[in-house]
Amino acid sequence: MRFRAPKGTDDIMPPGSRRWRNLLRSWDILAERYGYEYVATPIFESTELFARGMGETTEVVEKQMYNFRDKAGRKLTLRPEITAGVVRAYIQAGRSGEFKGAYSGPAFRYERPQEGRRRQFWQLGLEYMGTPHVEADLEVIELGYRYMLDCGLGDVVVQVNSIGDPPDRTAYHGLLSSWLEERSRLLSEDARRRIRSNPLRVLDSKTDREVVAEAPVPVDHLGSEAASHHEHLIEGLEERGIVYEEAPRLVRGLDYYNRTVFEYVPPSYRAAQNAVGGGGRYDGLARLLGGRAVPGVGLALGLDRILAAAGDRPAARALDVFLVVADQERRSLAHSFARRLRSAGVRCDLLTGRRSVRAQFRAANRRDAAVAVVIGEEWDAGLVTVKDLSSGVGRTLPAGEVISFVLRGPGGQQA
Ligand code: AMP
Repeated sequence: MRFRAPKGTDDIMPPGSRRWRNLLRSWDILAERYGYEYVATPIFESTELFARGMGETTEVVEKQMYNFRDKAGRKLTLRPEITAGVVRAYIQAGRSGEFKGAYSGPAFRYERPQEGRRRQFWQLGLEYMGTPHVEADLEVIELGYRYMLDCGLGDVVVQVNSIGDPPDRTAYHGLLSSWLEERSRLLSEDARRRIRSNPLRVLDSKTDREVVAEAPVPVDHLGSEAASHHEHLIEGLEERGIVYEEAPRLVRGLDYYNRTVFEYVPPSYRAAQNAVGGGGRYDGLARLLGGRAVPGVGLALGLDRILAAAGDRPAARALDVFLVVADQERRSLAHSFARRLRSAGVRCDLLTGRRSVRAQFRAANRRDAAVAVVIGEEWDAGLVTVKDLSSGVGRTLPAGEVISFVLRGPGGQQA
């Protein structure tokens, strides 16, 4: 019997996994630079957490959750998103006030698999809790935007909208429901079902796009505070030079948002109306999950989609140096040289056991190293031979200069 990865899941393997690793790394660095601490929460949580947090009538909760019971009969779910878990953790830890957390990890949704729509996918996210201020919304949007630029999605557009505060929404829901009711024969079955339970979701239904094009939109029905928050948001986006677009029908799939909602859409994805990431403000979520009322705003980006949207790029080399041991009696020397290089930040490897020089060079190429460093009899004179594996050009260098040659030298291998 041959085993295969389950439908809609992927193995992240080299060479593609190199970009994956780099993107995860740059996410960590960027989030840390903005003051977000690392958080990790369980891959599974109680089913109720997501049903409450995301909303019983959302598509994810209704159709896409991986639910199961453990041996004690507890109802559990593989997380379909990560925000609910982070907010739960914040409450459980007895935290209060401001909290800035960043995470990355897999999430699971039972979807019809296609490119950029996987059953296990990777999310990178942020939660900025404890402040209702619009500057927090702007910081989160800016960080995600900068990350997109760093990933090579230079022409990404941030679509923004405000869906108001709960009282604005109650009034608006009534208005929208009646408007939809009058046109119910034109709507899809799903949309008709949602008129009462979740009319907002009909606004971004792809099947009903033409009908809802004329529907009243939330941003025209904001209370004064939500309206001023939104105005400041738009001003802030202008000030920061973030390329944005107002998207009055953007509501996002999850129920917990209020006021600001946004998505990052690269032009290549526009036709399909697919976002590589999105987020919004969720001032009611902590309360909904049993905590005190703590405002929050966050985002989640999909790594699978970012990679697909950024297209193929030449993968960086996997290693800076592959050590080739010409004289087998120098093996332990080679190992101590490898330790020196690695301590200095050089990505370096060598084969195990006694191998021919040819076999070692073949391995150096197969492992996609930038240079091979040969340790042979010239070592006694403090020298090694460094061979550029792209050009085939070799030169002899003092062993002590290999580190600076590799890290800063021609080729700038770690650039
Ligand atoms: P959402 O909150 O549903 O908009 O999800 C946030 C981001 O996660 C999306 O913009 C996608 O980049 C990513 N994402 C959501 N679902 C999937 C999926 N099934 N496959 C791949 N990426 C996904």
